[in-house]
Amino acid sequence: LPLQNRFHVAFYAATLATTITLILFTLLQRRTDRPQNKWFLTMLIIVSVNAISNIGSSVMVGYAEESPFYFTLLKIFHNTYFIFHTILCPVLYCYVLNVTGSIRRWSNLRKIIVAVPFFVTEFFALVNPLTNWVFYYDNYVFRRNWAEYFIYGAAALYFILSVVEIFTSWYAITVRRRIAMTYFFALAMGGVILQLVQIDIKSELFAESLAMMGAMLAIESEDDILDADTGTYNRRALQTDINGFVVKHEAVKLIFVKVVNADMVERVTRSANSDILALACADYFKALVPRYKIYRPNPENFVLICDGYREDDVLKISEMIKDRFLKSWRIFDSTFLLDAVVIKADVPKDIQSVDDVFFVADSIVPSGVDKDGIKIEWIMRRAEIERAIRRAVHDHKFEVYYQPTYCLAERKLHGAEALVRMNDETLGFVPPDEFIPIAEKIGLVEKIDDFVLKQVCAFLESKVPEERGMECINVNLSVIQCLRPGFVEHILKIVNSYAVAHSKINFEITESVGAEDYEALSKVAHDLKKEGFLLSMDDYGTGYSNMEGIFSLDFDVVKIDKSILWNAEKMSRGRIILENSVRMIHDLGCSVLVEGVETEEQIDLLTRLNVDYLQGFYFSKPVPKDRFLEVIA
Ligand code: C2E
Ligand code: CA
Ligand code: CA
Repeated sequence: LPLQNRFHVAFYAATLATTITLILFTLLQRRTDRPQNKWFLTMLIIVSVNAISNIGSSVMVGYAEESPFYFTLLKIFHNTYFIFHTILCPVLYCYVLNVTGSIRRWSNLRKIIVAVPFFVTEFFALVNPLTNWVFYYDNYVFRRNWAEYFIYGAAALYFILSVVEIFTSWYAITVRRRIAMTYFFALAMGGVILQLVQIDIKSELFAESLAMMGAMLAIESEDDILDADTGTYNRRALQTDINGFVVKHEAVKLIFVKVVNADMVERVTRSANSDILALACADYFKALVPRYKIYRPNPENFVLICDGYREDDVLKISEMIKDRFLKSWRIFDSTFLLDAVVIKADVPKDIQSVDDVFFVADSIVPSGVDKDGIKIEWIMRRAEIERAIRRAVHDHKFEVYYQPTYCLAERKLHGAEALVRMNDETLGFVPPDEFIPIAEKIGLVEKIDDFVLKQVCAFLESKVPEERGMECINVNLSVIQCLRPGFVEHILKIVNSYAVAHSKINFEITESVGAEDYEALSKVAHDLKKEGFLLSMDDYGTGYSNMEGIFSLDFDVVKIDKSILWNAEKMSRGRIILENSVRMIHDLGCSVLVEGVETEEQIDLLTRLNVDYLQGFYFSKPVPKDRFLEVIA
């Protein structure tokens, strides 16, 4: 064999070694289930076949003249090369379309139209043995014919389309993929050009195989996007893939599965069995949708991306999941009941950004909420409120309203309760009952309470409340905030920066705290009292607190919740509860304030019970400061 041909064979053999290695690697890693993987594997097979047929033809060229058999072999090898090489660029295009995700938006008609040049040129390659349109032999010398230009033209077309596709999807793909794809194309182009100018350097296929190696390491490799415990995709993969949909304004349906009692399982079994449970869940989901549609952005949450599914299919899948979670899961010898919330969501109707997806996945489902009632709208409203709170905290956009309190005996003004208000530009008025718990969850309630306290201090410093005969102003404290270390110092720092007597501030702490917090809370209450502040217990009668605990806290005033008053009007049993509550609180040495007073009849009732203070809409709703001064004038 001439040296030159051996040189060619060496190039093709190197190509073949590379692609075979890549094929083996792909199969060993079992990365074959996504359409993208299949196209990648197809490219590898095509380049391998091309390398083999080129080795064959490089060898046979040397012997073709010796016998018709060798000549026939040469023709077969050459023809095989064209048949397969014609497929390569279209497959590359399919691969790129899958990586960028654009293929999802293609109609079948579009797919067929784009495939036309491929079918035509493939036809030329297939019929060449009969027609010689692509190439022929002139006295054993290889000659190109007109159809070969079509074949190269079509290849160039698909190549260019692939490049265009990458540039138009630039922001839908990750930086890493961008770099990898750019490299992929530059290397392949370099190989083609080198072979074009130096016909004996068979660099085209070799460069292609190297480019594919790069692509495999950067694009096909899933090590960093797989969830190790379940074989589903991780948070990062979810981020990348959702971004692809969002950037391209593409509609897609999602199913969120939030397991809400995984920690319970861990407590019961005293080990990290939740990973095994997660695997069991993941395996169940894999029976419903392909593996590559399942994501596990955090240990207790799964997200299924149902692209290309119809609405009723998604509904069916989510119902099946709900049903499955009604049954138990078997792990080793034990069975567990997992509590899960299944939420369907539409991009872009319900969810417009990657952040939204993570908000839903990461949001904690509060206990005491009806799980079936949790809809995506409910969660997204929480997200909006969360954003509104952040905006309001940032721009100091809260307002403090005041609701007067009255001494019952003298029927004169006693003080006021400061109540925070949030009026958001987009959401409008949001009631504190709705946003305070959310602010507590995101750790911003402290900022809000500080704001209210400062406003109240400034109001007191103006001496106006005193002149109007107000004894004190009540300020609500969030229990979560009270229990933070250094809380009392923090309060003192704020209050002492105003010229305000401590006894003018009455802090309200709600009764409904967990029993385990009493000890810490009693220390805080004690310290506040020592500093001369007044203390009220709020919402008495709503929790199931231990009496011993709450009354050890030494309150000045106990505020009986409005529900107790309203029940006392409705039934005699409610009346007994109210009466005895008032008596007990008095016997323990505290004053009684009743909230929610709306009618004259209620005042009559409370007068008979010897209640000390009243607060309610009968006197005034909570109103802004200026209005409040008019009300008490
Ligand atoms: P709360 O401390 O029990 O406040 C009393 C609530 O009862 C107020 O609701 C008030 O408007 C309402 N109310 C008073 N009288 C009547 C009445 O006669 N009839 C009816 N139907 N309602 C009456 P608001 O202002 O919506 O506050 C709700 C809750 O939000 C408060 O309950 C308190 O827990 C929380 N909150 C309000 N402001 C603050 C604050 O500055 N900091 C903290 N941590 N929580 C606050
Ligand atoms: Ca209160
Ligand atoms: Ca209250």
